[in-house]
Amino acid sequence: MKIAVIGTGYVGLVSGTCFAETGNHVICVDNDAQKVAKLNAGELTIYEPGLENLFQRNTKEQRLFFTTDLEEAVKDVEIIFLALPTPPGEDGSADLSYVLGVAEQLGQMITSYKVIVDKSTVPVGTAEKVAAAIKKNAKVDFDVVSNPEFLREGVAVDDFLKPDRVVVGTSSARAQDVMHRLYEPFVRQGNPIYFMDERSAEMTKYAANSYLATRITFMNEIANLCETVGANVDEVRKGMGSDNRIGRRFLFPGVGYGGSCFPKDVQALHKTSVDNKYDFKVLKSVMEVNNKQKHVLSEKILKYFNNDLNGKHIAVWGLAFKPNTDDIREAPAIYTIENLLRAGAKVTAYDPEASENMKKIFEDRVNFVEHRYDALKEADALAIVTEWSIFRTPDFSFMGELMKEKVIFDGRNLYDTELMIDKGFYYNSIGRNTVE
Ligand code: NAD
Repeated sequence: MKIAVIGTGYVGLVSGTCFAETGNHVICVDNDAQKVAKLNAGELTIYEPGLENLFQRNTKEQRLFFTTDLEEAVKDVEIIFLALPTPPGEDGSADLSYVLGVAEQLGQMITSYKVIVDKSTVPVGTAEKVAAAIKKNAKVDFDVVSNPEFLREGVAVDDFLKPDRVVVGTSSARAQDVMHRLYEPFVRQGNPIYFMDERSAEMTKYAANSYLATRITFMNEIANLCETVGANVDEVRKGMGSDNRIGRRFLFPGVGYGGSCFPKDVQALHKTSVDNKYDFKVLKSVMEVNNKQKHVLSEKILKYFNNDLNGKHIAVWGLAFKPNTDDIREAPAIYTIENLLRAGAKVTAYDPEASENMKKIFEDRVNFVEHRYDALKEADALAIVTEWSIFRTPDFSFMGELMKEKVIFDGRNLYDTELMIDKGFYYNSIGRNTVE
């Protein structure tokens, strides 16, 4: 099949590459000329495990192309994916200007029947808006389909190639047939493709992300309460998660959810409920709790140092909003570091992949280092913000030699508290007793 993917970011690039991997002819469009030039030069623009191989193979075998020329890209294709940004507007609603702007352009450009697919996360009713925007100028038939994306950064390739399910919202039998042919190779193991109406598909994505954000937030509150009552959230998590009705995944407390999706999607669903005069109380609390949780680690550090970090050197391990990505959008590390700097600390930071992106925010206000141990030299404390695997079994003796004080604030509960007693560290984590 011939496919155009408009927007070549985390979703567009992974989707385009994976569609090419199953034998399709894919042309990815982006209006960022630098990005397209880099991709055309054979260089990936994001860090995503497993993507490099697929990208190299499919470009070499001439199934995957990149361009800035929208009109040329959509000329001969059967399907057009919109993988454009939908950032939060000032009132929390999803900003649809990218999606609708491109939709209007497409109306002028298409010269034969197309299936136009909303891959971006968009509020209920957007498929109708996209159809209306295209229709303004279109002289040919088309169908607009909602096909929300559920991939997770860090495991995006696997998620895309072997999705738990594919959700397709369409009321057109013709479009349904096209989407079925396209996704068939991805669900050969028997996972479902759910066909539904457009509005339900749009809602499914927001409901899924908001539920996951709620689950994390619930565990963060349990963890905060565990600290107060002297319980250990790790034990509680295991005890809860072994119940089949609950399940073990997504029960890890931490420093709040971040990333480019959960914060904005929870906000957008809340805005949808406000617009529809529905008082979605749970979502309000989720946003409120998460806004507090993002500051939990820096508050612990400030408390330890009596609210004065002047002359203190804090090392930070982990900047990406989660491991295995270079994405720092809404990363808890941003809030943590900002608070530490404001209180007078000198901050040295290490991340395996996300430093370059973080430098754009902090510039020379933070000292970024190339190796995890370099951050620790003469540090008064270490703050762990992202649970990269490389932080899980460090050389504690060496760390103790490097650091001025053997003090760790762990926002991801990476280490066993008993072990930290043995190693002689002050160790303060989330929802567990502090090792003094
Ligand atoms: P992104 O910012 O990484 O990528 C968007 C791309 O669109 C950028 O490369 C940008 O240059 C390009 N673009 C902007 N305007 C354009 C235009 N007029 N023409 C062509 N290209 C244009 O965003 P993303 O993370 O890939 O997210 C895209 C959508 O997918 C969002 O709605 C997001 O909520 C949703 N989503 C994201 C994820 C994720 O993990 N990142 C997962 C599921 C769904």
